Amino acid sequence: MVKKDKKLKVISENKHPLSPKNISHNAIKVMEGLNRAGFKSYLVGGSIRDILLGSVPKDFDIATNATPEQVKCTFRNARIIGRRFRIVHVRFGREIIEVTTFRGQANNRTHEKGDVSFRNPADHSQQQVESTTGQLLRDNVYGDMHSDALRRDFTINALYYCLDDHSIYDYTQGIEDIEKRQLRMIGDPYTRYKEDPVRLLRAVRFAAKLGFHLEENTMRPIFGNTNLLTHVSPARLFDEILKLFLNGSATATYSLLQDYQLLDVLFPNTMKVIDKSPYFSGLIDEVISNTDKRIRNNKRVTPAFIYGALLWPAFIYEQHKLVNRGVPVIPAVHQAADTVINQQLARVAIPKRFLIPMRQIWELQWQLPKRTGKQAERTLSHEKFRAGYDFLLMRETAGEQLHGLGHWWTRYQDASESHRQKMIDELQLTQKPLRTPTQ
Ligand code: ATP
Ligand code: MG
Repeated sequence: MVKKDKKLKVISENKHPLSPKNISHNAIKVMEGLNRAGFKSYLVGGSIRDILLGSVPKDFDIATNATPEQVKCTFRNARIIGRRFRIVHVRFGREIIEVTTFRGQANNRTHEKGDVSFRNPADHSQQQVESTTGQLLRDNVYGDMHSDALRRDFTINALYYCLDDHSIYDYTQGIEDIEKRQLRMIGDPYTRYKEDPVRLLRAVRFAAKLGFHLEENTMRPIFGNTNLLTHVSPARLFDEILKLFLNGSATATYSLLQDYQLLDVLFPNTMKVIDKSPYFSGLIDEVISNTDKRIRNNKRVTPAFIYGALLWPAFIYEQHKLVNRGVPVIPAVHQAADTVINQQLARVAIPKRFLIPMRQIWELQWQLPKRTGKQAERTLSHEKFRAGYDFLLMRETAGEQLHGLGHWWTRYQDASESHRQKMIDELQLTQKPLRTPTQ
């Protein structure tokens, strides 16, 4: 069925642990549907890698020789998405099976001036379009399974499983790399990072999540080329950053991002000031390890909280600068938030639905110390009280001296009405002016 190729290794059914039992029913339905319609289809990507490593895949991706239009015609519940890279989503309730057509290598790449991937022409013709910096603005040239394998990012992500013979097809020594626990870029790493700079982040994400090391040639070009990320659209960077921090290995990911100086590109304003106070990195470390813990315990995590911590150093630095110039404290909070958010949006398109609560969490840091009269009750009924209070606790854990403010709020929430009044009365007797967020 598959043409013999010197480089191809076929791992037969009895030599690997993958079987239809550990594949989603819906992914099987899609492969069967495509095969019945006369096409070839294979399970590919992260799901094979994860099953071989003994973990449960997050999602199932399928590669096929059917074009996106042909896939769409085969399934009622299919939708073509993407422009740079056209794929089909086949939806089954909450599960989406991603189907991609085998990619090929174009003989000639069209060149487009400029270096941004988010310009407009809605051209769906078969083509590869490259920017002046070598970035692939469109990659819609189709090919066969072999050429498809070579267009994928890392060898461990380029394994194919065939439902007919239950074999795994490996063109890039991906199995060997899984055994060596190493992440190796397919082809020339520098060229591949230039084609799609998001691969810089994917390298870090997989290394952290899987506990793999980066193979020497894959690692070397990262240093010195982190700026390639500035060519990625802010909307795509937002999605990729979420994947970095919401994959349950945010702590390891953050530390690798630091090692490879990628944070300087993603959060330039924060990184410029991060060493100005030990509380800054302390808070980020705290929020990130807490995010991992929450994900492990199936608790909700919000990007507003994570961004709130990642941008906190830049925000506080800016706020203090304004106060030192004579701007009153609260107007300085609003002005600093505006400045930091606007500058960050030029790089990462954080949606409004996260920016608004992030600002509320920040603003609450000035509201939480004010507790006399009716202020505490008002703060407690704020829609973002819980997030603001959690943020405060993390600032304290990071070492900021807030004179037991977090503990006070912990007790206040549990107290009866009369006891709450007593706590406030006591405060009025003893209260010293509390310092607002420190740098
Ligand atoms: P995850 O567990 O995060 O889903 P994954 O490896 O499945 O990991 P996806 O983003 O779902 O990652 O992509 C599916 C597959 O598509 C990858 O395994 C890889 O083969 C290919 N791929 C994805 N993004 C790129 C890219 N930027 N460049 C080249 N190949 C890519
Ligand atoms: Mg996947």
